[in-house]
Amino acid sequence: MRRRPQKRIPDVYPCPECGNTSIKIELYRTNKVATVKCGFCGLEMAIDEVNELTEPVDVYGSFIDKFYDKRKADTE
Ligand SMILES: [Zn+2]
Repeated sequence: MRRRPQKRIPDVYPCPECGNTSIKIELYRTNKVATVKCGFCGLEMAIDEVNELTEPVDVYGSFIDKFYDKRKADTE
């Protein structure tokens, strides 16, 4: 049995909506977009600030900023 070298750890992050660590980030560097989706509550967002240096954690940071901006705008 062969072992795959360096199995990638799934990038999952805490969801600000439901609190579960079930946020998955998909990076599409060629299209300069990323999608953020919670596998638990279905929260979904597209992030369009992607370049060749963008890492999932950066996308997550942008997502969190947008999430709270939106929430703030909704409650004002
Ligand atoms: Zn969620």
